[in-house]
Amino acid sequence: MAAKKLSKVPEEVKMKKGDKPAAVEKNHSKVPEEVKTKKGDKPATAAKRLSGVPASGTVALSNLVSQMKSMGIDIVSFSMGEPDFVTPENIVEACKASLNEGFTHYTPSAGIPELRKAIAAKAFSDNRIPCTAKNVLVTPCKHAIFMSALAFLDPGDEVILPDPSWVSYEACIRLAGAKPVYIPTKFDDNFIIDPSLISASITPKTKMIVLNSPSNPTGSVIPCETIKDISKIAIENNLTVLSDEIYESIIYEGKHHSVAAVPDMFERTITISGLSKTYAMTGWRLGWAIASEKSIKELDKLQTHSISCCVSFTQPAAVEAINGPQKEKENMVKEFKKRRDLAVDLIRDIKGLDVNVPKGAFYLFPKYDSKVKSEVLCTKMLEEAHVAVTPGSAFGPCGEGFFRLSYAASEDQIREGLSRIKKFMNNL
Ligand code: PMP
Repeated sequence: MAAKKLSKVPEEVKMKKGDKPAAVEKNHSKVPEEVKTKKGDKPATAAKRLSGVPASGTVALSNLVSQMKSMGIDIVSFSMGEPDFVTPENIVEACKASLNEGFTHYTPSAGIPELRKAIAAKAFSDNRIPCTAKNVLVTPCKHAIFMSALAFLDPGDEVILPDPSWVSYEACIRLAGAKPVYIPTKFDDNFIIDPSLISASITPKTKMIVLNSPSNPTGSVIPCETIKDISKIAIENNLTVLSDEIYESIIYEGKHHSVAAVPDMFERTITISGLSKTYAMTGWRLGWAIASEKSIKELDKLQTHSISCCVSFTQPAAVEAINGPQKEKENMVKEFKKRRDLAVDLIRDIKGLDVNVPKGAFYLFPKYDSKVKSEVLCTKMLEEAHVAVTPGSAFGPCGEGFFRLSYAASEDQIREGLSRIKKFMNNL
């Protein structure tokens, strides 16, 4: 896949000396009487379930970076949660063909049958998940997580999840009225969750365990033995497992293991994955949930009342992504591995930083040697060094003292950004 060029403000949209802003049309210069706020008008009051649920910190940071870049500031961004490659051409062409053929209306809510079949066949052969098309719901990955929380959690339920972990799990759990129970993980254990700590945290209210391998933000990959141990705990305590496997294809050493492939786990597991990271398709909003037929029916019920279905003309392209040539995906993973090794070497050369070599995803989670809070450190780094990284505290209490660096950036950007970070850390 060709690397995307970093966007600069194009010359033609820059203001030149002497340019005048376009005059505002007369009719638009006044707010019409009927939309003016009148005395007594009040904005809608937010529901209680939203209090204590912050907006996504990672999305807020990338919005800020885009804004600074559009002002012409030379930012090196390591905050991206998406591959910096273009979607492979065969997939784009398949999408164009379906548009040209007029495939632009609603589809069945659970997805077109060809796509559900393709996803099930892939999950059966690559992930060894014993499923068929009936066990698949086509839906954006993040929406699958949101719907799973609403469909399977009641107010008061407790949900076990690793600390640190991806920002939206806690939000989805809280929106469902349930309570996140964080299990601390350690730098020295490569942030792999310890099953004995899961066992010790189970109460009569525990309903679900959330797992994410390879992990965002740490890149760690849960070993097969640990997955089996956690599965045993889930079976013994009658728990549901939500297994987010969105980075399943981005693995450099070892193998990806799906929880739903462990004997007796399929019925109690909701496996979430999608195309976003594997094929550089984050903007296509296409993913899936794989679960028992009964669970898929519940999720589909929510889908019919929320988004109705995924975008129609992207679904045949998703079939092409899964069944078509996989060479570009393989090249992208090779490229990511080179960047990981480069970034790890450069970080280990910086005084005050240490980092593990993660086996998957495209994130590093360096530890820094300072008492400064990660949010303060990252803001200072953005303001002074013009490098964007995400504060570790955004991912849970155990993320304090760390930051997340996404190496979905060119080698030149990695060299430049880490040389800026080196100077910054020397002056801290
Ligand atoms: N899970 C994890 C761990 C992620 O990092 C992301 C995206 N950042 C998602 C789910 C959501 O994926 P999508 O954009 O395909 O909905």
